[in-house]
Amino acid sequence: MSISTKERTELRSELNNVGYKWDYVDSWPAKTTLYRHRAQKNPQGEIVSDVGTSVSGVPGAPSYVRNKSRQGLLAWPPSETCECPWCTKARQEKNIDNSEEIKSVSGRRKGSMGPHFNADS
Ligand SMILES: [Zn+2]
Repeated sequence: MSISTKERTELRSELNNVGYKWDYVDSWPAKTTLYRHRAQKNPQGEIVSDVGTSVSGVPGAPSYVRNKSRQGLLAWPPSETCECPWCTKARQEKNIDNSEEIKSVSGRRKGSMGPHFNADS
């Protein structure tokens, strides 16, 4: 199987964008293991395969791996430092949740320490 230079360049940049090594298209494993970075849901919206699920023994060919990367399957487990679009998005959503929680906690504390704080002195 041979691919054109143009195709190779496109593969290289697309794979590199989601976090694959720059030289993946030059040396790739015959078989690899892919991990879900995006939960797979059925048409009802229920999760059928959660983030972190691994699929082993799949072809390592760059074009195959590229197609799978578009579905959220990458050759390394999802993590806090993963730069793929799905992990980045999940982190952003988590950060928004956290900052709202901190705001409401400090708001409550301020209220409870109000006029009653020095009531006994
Ligand atoms: Zn990821």
